[in-house]
Amino acid sequence: PSRAGRLPVEDYLDGVHRRFLGLRDGAVADYIPPLGAVDPEQFAIAVATTDGQVYGVGDVGNAFTLQSVSKPFTYGLALEDRGLAEVRARIGVEPSGDAFNSISLDAAGRPKNPMINAGAIAAAGLVEGDDPFARVLASYGRWAGRPLEVDEEVYAAERETGHRNRAIGHMLRAVGSLDGDPERALDVYFRQCSVAVTCSDLAVMAATLAARGLNPLTGEQALGDASVNQVLSVMTTCGMYDAAGEWLVGVGIPAKSGVSGAVIGVLPGQLGIAVFSPRLDPVGNSTRGVAVFRQLSKDLRLHFVHTP
Ligand code: GLN
Repeated sequence: PSRAGRLPVEDYLDGVHRRFLGLRDGAVADYIPPLGAVDPEQFAIAVATTDGQVYGVGDVGNAFTLQSVSKPFTYGLALEDRGLAEVRARIGVEPSGDAFNSISLDAAGRPKNPMINAGAIAAAGLVEGDDPFARVLASYGRWAGRPLEVDEEVYAAERETGHRNRAIGHMLRAVGSLDGDPERALDVYFRQCSVAVTCSDLAVMAATLAARGLNPLTGEQALGDASVNQVLSVMTTCGMYDAAGEWLVGVGIPAKSGVSGAVIGVLPGQLGIAVFSPRLDPVGNSTRGVAVFRQLSKDLRLHFVHTP
C-alpha cells in the first residue's frame, strides 16, 4: 500500500532513489569549470507516459545542461531537413567502440554514428536555415513541451575549450561530411550541448520519442514517424558511448547519456525515463543513472528481448 497522497509508481521510484542514494562511485565531468562545480549529490528520476502522466522523485526540477543527450534530437532535425538518404550518406549508423570524442571516421570516410561527437557535429552542420541554432532550440522546445534556453556560462566554456571538437569539425570539412565553415556547425553543437533542462523535461522529451514524435503534454508533433524510428535505432546501438554493448545486455532499451550526468531511455509506445546524477563512470555515463536503469529494467521487465 502506498503512503497517503502518493501514487504507487512514486513509491516505487522513491524506493529505487533511496536504494542508490548511497552510490557515490565516479566523478563529475571537470573539463569545463561550470560542470566541475555542480553539486555531485544531485539525483533525480522522472518517468513520463505516452498519455501524458509525469512522475518524479528527487531533484526533478534542478537545471543542468543537455550535453550529449542533445545528439538524438539534432540528428532528428537533420533527418527532417535533409531526408534519410542524404543524412545516411554523410553519417554512419555503426557503433564505434571508441570514446565519444574520438577523432575517427569509418572506412567510407564518414563519422561512424550520430551519437558520438563527430557524427553529432556533422548532424549539426546539416540543420538548415540562416540561424540553424534557433531552429534547433525551437525543436528542442517541442520535444520538452516548453521553451528552453542556453546556459550561457556553459556555452562560453564549451566554445573556449572545444579544441578537440574543432579538430573533429575540420576533419569533417576535409572529408566532405561538412560543407562551408566548420565553425557554423561547431557553434550549433556547442550551443546545443549547453541547453538547460530539468529531469522532468528529459522524461517528456523521451516520452515524445516513445510516442512516435507526438509530445504527450502539448499534442505537438516534434518529429515525423520515420525519423523517430531512425533516431531510436541509433540510440539502441550507439547511445551509451563505448558501453553500448554492456547497456544492451544489462538494460536493453534505446537510451542516450550526456556528461552532465543525464540519461534518457525510451520504451516505444509506453514510457520515457530520465535519470540525472552528475557522477560519471570511466566511459562517461552517470553512475547512478546506469544503476537506476538496470534496476528498472530488471524490476519492470523492460528489456526488449524479454518475453512475457
Ligand atoms: N560538450 C561535450 C563534448 O562535446 C559533450 C559530450 C558528452 O556529453 N559526452 O565533449
